[in-house]
Amino acid sequence: MSAALFDWLDRVTWLAEVPRYASAILTRQVQAKISRSRPECWSDNFAWLPAENGEERFLTAFANHYGRIRAFHGCRPADLKSYFDYGLHGQTAEILEAQFLSIFRDLPEQKLQEALAELKDRKESERGRFWVVLEERELIEHCGHYLIQGSEYLMALAASLCRLAPGEDYRMRLRKHGTPTIFELHIPIQHLQEAQVDALARLVLAAWGELVSNRPLGMGHSPCLVVRRTVEPQYFVGHTHPARIRDPHLGHTIYVNQHTRCVHCAEARIDT
Ligand SMILES: [Zn+2]
Repeated sequence: MSAALFDWLDRVTWLAEVPRYASAILTRQVQAKISRSRPECWSDNFAWLPAENGEERFLTAFANHYGRIRAFHGCRPADLKSYFDYGLHGQTAEILEAQFLSIFRDLPEQKLQEALAELKDRKESERGRFWVVLEERELIEHCGHYLIQGSEYLMALAASLCRLAPGEDYRMRLRKHGTPTIFELHIPIQHLQEAQVDALARLVLAAWGELVSNRPLGMGHSPCLVVRRTVEPQYFVGHTHPARIRDPHLGHTIYVNQHTRCVHCAEARIDT
């Protein structure tokens, strides 16, 4: 397995690496052609790439070159220990439902069961999955609700309760439990579905094309990947508890997190 790490945040490096690992496709002639004709290098249509089967061959070259992807997962765990012991599992509805029943135990049991019934389909469609982003700041500035309130499924259950048993914004109760946490993961590329890796490779190829054609399209992609299997503890390389998080559920005001250290903070960093 290749040990090369793909770090979306290190754009200078990955752009420089493209013509090296894909030298058989992006030959000097191909580069010269793009540089001369200056096409618009989109990531969903590679008509601009003057190489036979260029897109397909590039996807293979990308997947062969990189062994791991640097990614960030935002959550609000009650205890981080299980992550370091067992890794990051996808959505496990039974655990979240137990938390839900405990946090809202003062509400009528019938309402809680109605909320669970409403989310039944989603429970199954999200089972075993979790989401990661390749830019840490996304979790702090644009989707802070995962740090502030935790699991998407738990939030959806609380939102259902707002309708079924009006009285308060039940999502706010989720803020009293757990610690806002961002885990940094170096996910083996084999842990990801091929379509996810291919989508990332297409963004990389298009960005390289924009550079060579000197024609920026200003697409501003910030990739988000779905992981459908457990990422084991050895792929955890660090974690943080951001102090200030933009709050999408309260008018994008700043949420101040008082828990910026945990017992695992000092010991968590491991070299991979
Ligand atoms: Zn910590």
